[in-house]
Amino acid sequence: MIQVKGYAAQKASAPLAPYSFQRRDPRDHDVVIDIKYCGICHTDIHQVNDGWGGSIYPMVPGHEIVGVVSEVGPGVTRYKVGDKVGVGCFVDSCRKCSSCQRGLEQYCQEGMTTTYNGMERDGKTVTQGGYSNKIVVDENYVLRMPTNLAFESLAPLLCAGVTLYSPLTHWKAGPEKKVGIVGLGGLGHIGVKIAHALGAEVTVLSHSLSKQGDAKKLGADKFYATSDPKTFEILKGYFDLIINTVSSEIDLNSYLDLLTLDGTMVLVGIPETQTTLGAFSLVSARRNLSGSLIGGIKETQEMLDFCSKHNITCDVELIPIQKVNEAYQRILKSDVRYRFVIDIKSL
Ligand code: NAP
Ligand code: ZN
Ligand code: ZN
Repeated sequence: MIQVKGYAAQKASAPLAPYSFQRRDPRDHDVVIDIKYCGICHTDIHQVNDGWGGSIYPMVPGHEIVGVVSEVGPGVTRYKVGDKVGVGCFVDSCRKCSSCQRGLEQYCQEGMTTTYNGMERDGKTVTQGGYSNKIVVDENYVLRMPTNLAFESLAPLLCAGVTLYSPLTHWKAGPEKKVGIVGLGGLGHIGVKIAHALGAEVTVLSHSLSKQGDAKKLGADKFYATSDPKTFEILKGYFDLIINTVSSEIDLNSYLDLLTLDGTMVLVGIPETQTTLGAFSLVSARRNLSGSLIGGIKETQEMLDFCSKHNITCDVELIPIQKVNEAYQRILKSDVRYRFVIDIKSL
């Protein structure tokens, strides 16, 4: 077994604290990765706090992992020692169902094996994430990282990046399309960059005007504060596509009214409460409401290659792991520009 150092929550809402544990020795197709950086996703906070239910403790969060391959199993063909690699939100899936066969492992019908707070395919080994110094992952679930961009700024692409790239490309954001991004946090800020690079007209809908200057620098064409009721009058029927990244409950009906005929709103933010939906918001302009979960391995690699080509990185604040609990508090106050990334050498 491989001895690993990390930070874990011992129970729901407990502060994260140092934690030592073991990972398996590499099997035939496994690579061992020395983790260099790990992004902090709002999902980590939902799960540490058991906000969605079903959390498993002790929990080492982290699913925006980049590092360097330090060892490979005998059957590994895709990676070699020294390669710069990434691991996102899942580390395995059934590999047989129609979703897996289509490269949509995140929608595996038997359930993907999440990078942490999940179960390996053996049904008994709990997975632990990237707030740690090493991880062992099957090569088929490992991504090749761009080498032309700052390594630490790439970590959040593994979740936030693909979570926005997937719906933006699926719903064909591009020239002539008006795209609204609701919530300018970790997901939202990378969504602005990707939608802009795809050639769409991008509007940010943020709860106040405080991030207006930043949004323009990130590539947004327009910016509106949702705290101002006039925003909902001005933008009525305006968008072809809205991606909602907000982590708390919002009034979906008032955002649906901002869609044009046949427009689509995609939920990617996952609040901890249920929300109500009025049929009029949909039927009055044949609107669509959908949701989207991260992205498959093939699509994640495509997103990384797209970001490499377009020089897209995340705006990050690098922190030592000792500051992780403070970072959680700041994320809850929307006080992050725009993603915290843990420097794992501080472990
Ligand atoms: P984040 O960095 O905290 O950003 C969320 C943004 O939502 C905030 O910056 C803020 O933007 C806005 N917001 C937060 N609370 C709000 C409130 N009470 N009212 C109005 N706006 C509010 O979080 P994140 O990491 O981007 O994650 C966002 C959500 O997506 C989380 O629920 C997370 O679990 C989920 N997620 C889903 C997927 C998926 O695959 N579907 C993947 C990753 C994460 P403004 O300041 O601009 O208003
Ligand atoms: Zn995430
Ligand atoms: Zn499957």
